[in-house]
Amino acid sequence: MKHIAKKKFGQNFLIDQGIIQALINAIHPQSQDCMVEIGPGLGAMTQPLLKHLKHLHVVEIDRDIILWMQGFYPADSLTIHNADVLKFDFACLCPRIRVVGNLPYNISSPILFKLLENTAQIIDMHFMLQKEVVERMVASPSTAAYGRLSVMLQYRLQMDYLVTVPPESFDPAPKVESAFVRCVPYAKLPFPATDEALFAKVVTAAFGQRRKTLRNTLKGLLDDAGFSALGIDPQLRAENLGVAAFVAISNYLAGPH
Ligand code: SAM
Repeated sequence: MKHIAKKKFGQNFLIDQGIIQALINAIHPQSQDCMVEIGPGLGAMTQPLLKHLKHLHVVEIDRDIILWMQGFYPADSLTIHNADVLKFDFACLCPRIRVVGNLPYNISSPILFKLLENTAQIIDMHFMLQKEVVERMVASPSTAAYGRLSVMLQYRLQMDYLVTVPPESFDPAPKVESAFVRCVPYAKLPFPATDEALFAKVVTAAFGQRRKTLRNTLKGLLDDAGFSALGIDPQLRAENLGVAAFVAISNYLAGPH
C-alpha cells in the first residue's frame, strides 16, 4: 500500500525484518490467544502475528489505513476497531487479553496509564516505545530515570527491558532510539495499597517537585510524626523511595480499615 506517514499519529513503520522476527519470538503468540494490537499501521507486526494466531483484534485511528486493512485482511481472522485507543473500551474484548503494539510515541504514557486501569483483564503486554520511556518504566530508585511513571507501573507490573531498537529499523526513522518491553501484571500485588487513589495522589505530590524534600512535597499530607512512625527520613526526595515506601505512606494516611 502507498501511504505517506502521518506525524500527528506518530507513524514510524517497522521495516527491519530481523527485529520484527525477534519481537514476534518475544511475544510468543499461541494460536488461541485473544490478542489485541494497538496501532497496526501497515501490518509490520500484524502479518507475522496472524501466522501464529487464529484471530487478532487491532485498534487503529487512521481511516486511510483502516480502509486498506478492510480490503486486505479476511474479516474472520482480523477484527478491526477504528478507534482512538485512549477512548477504546478494552472490556468489549475477551475476559483475558494479550496486548501488543509499536505504540505512537506521542501518546505512549497516556496509553500505559489507561491500560493500568485494565490490568485485571490483561495477561501480558509487549510494547515498542521510545527507549527513554522504557528506561523510566524499569528504573530503580535513586537513579535519574526513576519517577512517577516508574512507581505507578512497577506497583502493578513486572517489567523486562527486552531489546534496544535503532532508528534505522523504522520508516520514517524516528529521531530517538526505541526499546521493546514486556509488562506482566502481578497476579498478587507485592505491596497492595488500601486506597489506590490516595497512593496515586501521594506519588504525584512527591514527584511534583522532584528536587524538593519529602517534607516539602508531602506538606499537608504527612507530618513529622507520620514520617517518624513510618521510619522514613523527611529529608529524602521522592526519587529515593521504592514502591513499598510509597504504599506504606498511603496506607498510613488511609488509616486502619
Ligand atoms: N505497528 C505498525 C508498525 O510497527 O509498523 C505501526 C506503528 S506506528 C509507530 C503507530 C500506529 O498507531 C500507527 O498506525 C498510527 O496510525 C496508530 N495510532 C496513532 N495514534 C493512535 C490512537 N490514538 N489510537 C489508535 N491508533 C493510533
